[in-house]
Amino acid sequence: MITRDADPAHWAQLDHDSVELVRRARGYLDEIAPLLPAAERDRALPVGIIPGLLDVGFVRGAIGVRDGGLGLSHLQTALLMEEAGRCWASIRTTANILSLVAELLSAAGSSEQKRRFLRPLLAGQRLGWFAVTEPEAGSDAASLATLAERLPTGSYRLTGRKAYITNASYADFGIVLATVDPGLGARGITAFLVEHGAGGYRVMARPQLPVRAASCCDVLFDGVVVPAGNVLGDVGRGLSLAMRAINSGRLNVSAGCTGIAQAALEAASAHAVSRTQFGKPLAGFQLVQQLIADIAVQANAARQVYQAAARLLDSGADARVECSMSKYFCSEAANQVATRAVQVFGAAGLMEGNVAERLFRDAREATIPEGTSQMQVLQIGQALLGVSAVR
Ligand SMILES: Cc1cc2nc3c(=O)[nH]c(=O)nc-3n(C[C@H](O)[C@H](O)[C@H](O)COP(=O)(O)OP(=O)(O)OC[C@H]3O[C@@H](n4cnc5c(N)ncnc54)[C@H](O)[C@@H]3O)c2cc1C
Repeated sequence: MITRDADPAHWAQLDHDSVELVRRARGYLDEIAPLLPAAERDRALPVGIIPGLLDVGFVRGAIGVRDGGLGLSHLQTALLMEEAGRCWASIRTTANILSLVAELLSAAGSSEQKRRFLRPLLAGQRLGWFAVTEPEAGSDAASLATLAERLPTGSYRLTGRKAYITNASYADFGIVLATVDPGLGARGITAFLVEHGAGGYRVMARPQLPVRAASCCDVLFDGVVVPAGNVLGDVGRGLSLAMRAINSGRLNVSAGCTGIAQAALEAASAHAVSRTQFGKPLAGFQLVQQLIADIAVQANAARQVYQAAARLLDSGADARVECSMSKYFCSEAANQVATRAVQVFGAAGLMEGNVAERLFRDAREATIPEGTSQMQVLQIGQALLGVSAVR
């Protein structure tokens, strides 16, 4: 166990390697944080920061050493995501999707696919996106309609539209879930590696309320031909492949939300100490202390919840329910916390450019992707009661 005076108290619970990891990540994130206001304003991630993120362990951490990654634990990769969330949720969102793409390639990619896609991704030379959602298929992913028609050559022709896809504006390939036969339902859904240069899919920006520096797009496939060698995993196994990364995705969102809560605590506390009304700092009013104390309790509780789920995953247990609980708890907590942070700032907290305003918007995203709060509740309910209330 090591800590330094300036280290956050909760780092004292971590081992030496983990403390060094988060300290290094925080150092890099502090370095790039000044790019934040312009990136938010322009709605454009400075993609030049991505290799540096990889260097401090993002994305590479989630991948085993055999595939060119660092083989970090679930807890360690989640700790990195907490730091990203504390700095800038757009980075957490971007890194989360890059990690997901890398994880799926590592889990199901052929050696050729790993050479062409995974290795360059881990080297920061290629970037990827992942598309399951469609305008008419969100929580009910199995109802997706993007069609992958098999051609006599063995290639597939993709037709359809994906919605709200992170990273698609600048990444040069994506993993697309499409059905080879709508009559087969979930058993027809297959994962395809689609390249921008080769296939010619079209990308349309969808300017969003939260994570403004992250890319969010619709992706259109108008007869894009994908070679048979770009099927990722087995035909008909696309949804179950996506499920392999579901725990880590939910954990990453949970940890990122804890980072948002931590940032809210730091910003609201600093403001309460420096702002004076009625002749004394806001910090001296009991009702403001209540707001700050509530933020601190939620941030601390969220951290305990995601770290417990991560440790369970690291033990080899099936921690699916705990990851759902963690995603549900931490994303809802981040929203409560961000609302309170705005309250501490007063009107200033609702103005563009204010940190509380950004945290408020960014927290709002977290209860929707990687399974909405309602879907988490239904999965927890089913696990506890043995009855599905989804359909
Ligand atoms: C910023 C952002 C980035 C995203 N990035 C990606 C990405 O990279 N790739 C990708 O594939 N997708 C991405 N998504 C999409 C995301 O995964 C979906 O928004 C999510 O799955 C929910 O689908 P939906 O928005 O269509 O909502 P719907 O499924 O239409 O749900 C609407 C509401 O109804 C509720 N609901 C639905 N079904 C039930 C039920 N059975 N019981 C109770 N309530 C129900 C939901 O909880 C929600 O409150 C992103 C979304 C956002 C906001």
